[in-house]
Amino acid sequence: MKNLRVLAVIAVFIGGFAYLVSFSKPGPAMQIFAGISGPSEKTVVATSKETHWQNYSSGSDSRLAIFLTQPKSNWLGLAHGLKSIGVPFSITNDYAEALRHKVVIAYPLVSPSTVSMDGMRALADFVRNGGTLIGFEVFGSTMQDIFGFKNTVALRARHQLKFTHPAADADPLEKTIPIDSAKTTEPMGVYTYKDPSGLPIAVYEDGGAAIIEHKTGNGQAIAFGLDLGALILKGHNNRQENMARSYDDGYEPTLDVLLRLIEDIYRHGDDRAVTLQPIPNNKKLAVLLTHDIDYTRSLTNAIDYATYEHDAGIRATYFMQTKYIRDYNDDVILGPDSPDYLKKLRDLGMEIGSHTVSHSRQFAHFSMGDGRETYPEYHPFVQTKDVTNGGTILGELRVSRFLIEQLVPGVHVASFRPGYLSNPYALPQALVATDYAFSSSVTANDSLTHLPFQLNYDRSTTSEMPIYEFPITLSDGPPILSDRLPQGIGLAKKIARHGGLFVILIHPDVVEPKLGFEKKFVASTKDFSWFGTIEDFGSWWTARDAVQIDSHWLDGKLIVHITSQLPIDGLTLTPPSGLHPSGEQPIIKAADSHNVVLGKLKGTVDIDFTH
Ligand SMILES: [Zn+2]
Repeated sequence: MKNLRVLAVIAVFIGGFAYLVSFSKPGPAMQIFAGISGPSEKTVVATSKETHWQNYSSGSDSRLAIFLTQPKSNWLGLAHGLKSIGVPFSITNDYAEALRHKVVIAYPLVSPSTVSMDGMRALADFVRNGGTLIGFEVFGSTMQDIFGFKNTVALRARHQLKFTHPAADADPLEKTIPIDSAKTTEPMGVYTYKDPSGLPIAVYEDGGAAIIEHKTGNGQAIAFGLDLGALILKGHNNRQENMARSYDDGYEPTLDVLLRLIEDIYRHGDDRAVTLQPIPNNKKLAVLLTHDIDYTRSLTNAIDYATYEHDAGIRATYFMQTKYIRDYNDDVILGPDSPDYLKKLRDLGMEIGSHTVSHSRQFAHFSMGDGRETYPEYHPFVQTKDVTNGGTILGELRVSRFLIEQLVPGVHVASFRPGYLSNPYALPQALVATDYAFSSSVTANDSLTHLPFQLNYDRSTTSEMPIYEFPITLSDGPPILSDRLPQGIGLAKKIARHGGLFVILIHPDVVEPKLGFEKKFVASTKDFSWFGTIEDFGSWWTARDAVQIDSHWLDGKLIVHITSQLPIDGLTLTPPSGLHPSGEQPIIKAADSHNVVLGKLKGTVDIDFTH
């Protein structure tokens, strides 16, 4: 007993000492907002439901057809990639239905094990009769003449694709692209096509043919030796294992290059092909200015940024850390003065998103939680860089949202970014369960794309979630941002050549020289850029992602039938080259020699084009 009592005294002493050390900074240990507690409702995370390819089976024969030869495959990656690049498509498992289209992708495997002999013959006849066929992993005795090769050889551990005749203005990082990580323990299997009939479109690093093309009469067949759906999923799921050539601040267009190749093949192969541009109003770049408030002084500085942005007519996103407990990281960040600053941001037209409660590096390893986490009982406490106690994924998401919405009336929190981009596998379904619509939780380079994309359950391969990712393109931090202005503008112009996303992260821990960088960046890009918040662009992108396009020729006119379930303004279409809108059409608000911009649309509209 006596020993126990001594131990208890020692424990109290150690505990008190630890308390004094951890709370040696000034300021209260915890911020209490009188009368505020909640949220009261419980969060329930849905179980994973497989997305069926039949969800993507509608539409007319003007779309790119995906002939799905194996439902258990990475087709969801291909579908999400085609949506992000803006190519209308329709999936079927029936070759006869697919071959009613002019351009067909046979995915993931063209072999006697997945396609019947009748199907093989029909695919070959389709090309002989002038169709365009893109085959993935092509085997089989009937198809070599159509695709123009002698035989198919399986390879492992190929890391690069090199395009043999890229466009004259192609960037060096577009001429050669990574397709697998050199560090992975599970290298992707690929195929090479032996003795191709002509110069391959792309080769692996050993010179073996990776993508080949072959013409038969007016028909064309293109064979891919790598699984594009799997590669897209690695990028979108943030599982690329250092394949990317930069982490952030760089150009990494791997997925975009391959998707544009498919888009080009589709546009050449079908004279009805109408595709969607990625940016509203025929602009080339969506610049989303974002600011993470994760330091005690940042909120006062944020007003300086927001005042400039408001005066420039730009809405930006402020990700607010709602830390109400003093810990190893910092003092309380959501303090008694914070609501007034946040209201000021709101009144200046800025979006307020969540940047978690605790900003823990360990967030990626937090457990999901029970969905009953509430303020002020939820106590995530960062002990050290490597240890956080009491944090859960749902606690970080739902308590931060609750506090912002309680303290800043009129705000609905739609967007989320974790501290240190610490990214739990379960984040997509946790965000959906806690009513977020937009995530900015990864870098663009890590995602292998400069386009937004839809996320999947568990960052995995079979179940899509109703949430979109807007990856970070450029961020501050060393080397100092103001020294990198020419590189930043150069990167913006590279992405703008093809149209894409440019998310900038600037921490308002200081005002200058970072605000000066922002002003100069805006001035240099404003002629070709669209500016807005994550929520603004996210809402537009969500609507664009669901737009349906079908077209047909009638009496020398191409009738384009466009349906948007959600309201969208500034949707930008690219009709077949040489076509122009015929006459005045009220839905069209602008047009140039390539693209047509639509005004407000919800529901269905027909547009006519003529030569
Ligand atoms: Zn942060």
